[in-house]
Amino acid sequence: MNEPLSFVHPTPDSPWGTFQAQIDRVLPYLGPLGRWVETVRRPKRCLIVDIPIEMDNGTIGHFEGYRVQHSLTRGPGKGGVRYHPDVTLEEVMALSGWMSIKNAAVNLPYGGAKGGIRVDPSKLSRNELEKLTRRYTSEIGIIIGPQQDIPAPDVNTNAQVMAWMMDTYSVNIGATATGVVTGKPIHLGGSLGRVKATGRGVFVTGREAARRGGLDLNGARVAVQGFGNVGSAATELFFQAGAKIVAIQDHTGTIANPNGFELADLMPHVQQRGGVGGFAEAETIDDEAFWDVDCDILVLAALEGQVGADRARRVKARLVLEGANGPTTTAGDDVLADRGILVVPDVICNAGGVTVSYFEWVQDFSSFFWTEDEINLRLDKIMVGALKHIWDTADHHRISLRTATFAVACERILMAREERGLYP
Ligand code: GLU
Repeated sequence: MNEPLSFVHPTPDSPWGTFQAQIDRVLPYLGPLGRWVETVRRPKRCLIVDIPIEMDNGTIGHFEGYRVQHSLTRGPGKGGVRYHPDVTLEEVMALSGWMSIKNAAVNLPYGGAKGGIRVDPSKLSRNELEKLTRRYTSEIGIIIGPQQDIPAPDVNTNAQVMAWMMDTYSVNIGATATGVVTGKPIHLGGSLGRVKATGRGVFVTGREAARRGGLDLNGARVAVQGFGNVGSAATELFFQAGAKIVAIQDHTGTIANPNGFELADLMPHVQQRGGVGGFAEAETIDDEAFWDVDCDILVLAALEGQVGADRARRVKARLVLEGANGPTTTAGDDVLADRGILVVPDVICNAGGVTVSYFEWVQDFSSFFWTEDEINLRLDKIMVGALKHIWDTADHHRISLRTATFAVACERILMAREERGLYP
């Protein structure tokens, strides 16, 4: 009765194929709720929009944009907006599915959604980027809103983009609606701690996993792939905890130093040069050699599909932390599991960002703002509690943390589905 979707053609390694395989794996643990599993197999709503803008040189540029609401069962849609030349509907669908799982895993009162534009933002002027953002916001305005679906930053979007989105939506509805997006600048209703929240969550889950595995963070060797918002914040926290940062890879290159980098020197270099490439106090190594680096903890904070079976065979770490969404393919996951390498999966590992987004949304509603300490404490508590529940579930069924996270999340989503019932 359930024909495959006509508008997506997943392969085993594609993001949507990976997401489907993850659902397949959780099905045996859903009990009678498994009857509803198709609910999480397909997105609730996909919107594709054409975004025309007048470029600085007078020509008209057209860009393809998306907003996918994977699930609205537990609350409004929630999830970031990504600007990247390789963004596709299929990718956004998978990312929206992972948002539903993530939001339910930490028990936030949200469904899951994601957006994106197929664009290389580094090729646009600030003026063009603003026009693109505003027109995109207007086009998806028919399905977003503080009670409908709340976008946030993701790859290549930031607080300024969120400010333009909030302003455009507010102008269109004729009232300031700070709660329509999260990750805003502080004086526009943003939350303290939001910028570093995803990286902080990666650190907190990594710290807990290391503790359970008897790995002392003091002196632990950490390799990091991706040095954007997530990778850099997580790196800083591991460094402060006494870890040695032995390798970093980003789009500008791969650097390594078995003795560890001095972050006080590296950070200004990254700020000036836009990446780690060319950092003098490290050896520059071949990008592929990153996967052979001797380390205890590997932080994956770049893009999807980075660790397939081949790279998984080379990973030296004992612990893999998925700061990015979908960095490990199903085949890669199996190899890591066979080799006894513990993976803290994206759907819990990087949930710190959306957790503080939730705090921001709540603060916007009450117009009462919390201190950074309060935010970080609450974030720590929620992440530790959610991970413990997932760990207990994994131990109980003898399944991976990933399947356990899906089990916890799907139970919440499908229970809500059952209780709400179908209309009509
Ligand atoms: N883009 C982030 C993520 O993938 C944050 C989403 C949000 O804050 O809504 O989790």
